[in-house]
Amino acid sequence: MTTKNTATTLSEKMNKKKGTLYIVATPIGNLGDITQRALDTLKKVDKICAEDTRNTRKLLTHFGIQGDLQALHDHNEANRIAQIKGWLDSGEDIALVSDAGTPLISDPGYHLVNELGSDESNYKIEPIPGASAIITALSIAGLPTNRFTFEGFLPAKSVGRNKILQENAKEPRTQVYYESSHRIAITIKAMLEIYGAERKVVLARELTKLYEQVFRGNLSQLNEWINDDPLHQKGEFVLMVEGHEEQTDDEVIEASSSELLKILLDELPVKQASSIAAKITGRKKNELYRLAMSLKQ
Ligand code: SAM
Repeated sequence: MTTKNTATTLSEKMNKKKGTLYIVATPIGNLGDITQRALDTLKKVDKICAEDTRNTRKLLTHFGIQGDLQALHDHNEANRIAQIKGWLDSGEDIALVSDAGTPLISDPGYHLVNELGSDESNYKIEPIPGASAIITALSIAGLPTNRFTFEGFLPAKSVGRNKILQENAKEPRTQVYYESSHRIAITIKAMLEIYGAERKVVLARELTKLYEQVFRGNLSQLNEWINDDPLHQKGEFVLMVEGHEEQTDDEVIEASSSELLKILLDELPVKQASSIAAKITGRKKNELYRLAMSLKQ
């Protein structure tokens, strides 16, 4: 009798459909941006794993959803995985949400999805798409979006931060960085020093919220703007940088001739400066004369 019961339970378990893990995006500010599928999913699942249960409780309460909340953050993700597998094995559906936007995008969930995705048991992982600050910001930036790189948060320490910025300075694709209020001014200053004053940037602040603001200009102008008013440094930011444009050989020659002429013109009249520059660069004297005249003006 006991044996039969045990066998039945085991086969029932084996045949029992596994639950699904739903990766649910939530708004990045404006609660009106929640999707119908997100609400339906959060209502129907057995458990909701959340980065910060107090935050998610507020969201759920706003939408009249009860929800069995379980904490899943960077510090307990590894330990939670076995437990979540157990819940899924017993047929429970689970939703994963983060504090804002899409989970795993600079938010917890990577280890869980990686582990379930590579498990032989074929766990079902379903996305419930919605807001993410990166895509929201790119949609209004007006920078090339056919190719871009997502850099997330830069390291907090200056050595690590500068190393990445130096590596990225010649990156031809649009670059997208996340930044917090504590470090936005420092990051912009470091970029100005490494990328140069003229690089085009777009800073999106507090997207979809009451004080949404978008700054467009170059790094030198942005550095001034961010330090203009302490309010400009408040809130959440997406910083987008135009990719590096490789100069043609002609442009390189023109730029270096200009640099040389600027130095010579500090000491010499136009005619003499262009004559010396022609000897150094091998370019025609009259071309350099015209360039020297335009620099003088
Ligand atoms: N998972 C989120 C997503 O999908 O965008 C990102 C979470 S990450 C911990 C938080 C960062 O995202 C903020 O520091 C900021 O850089 C960016 N961010 C989130 N909401 C934003 C908003 N409303 N406006 C601008 N940036 C935002």
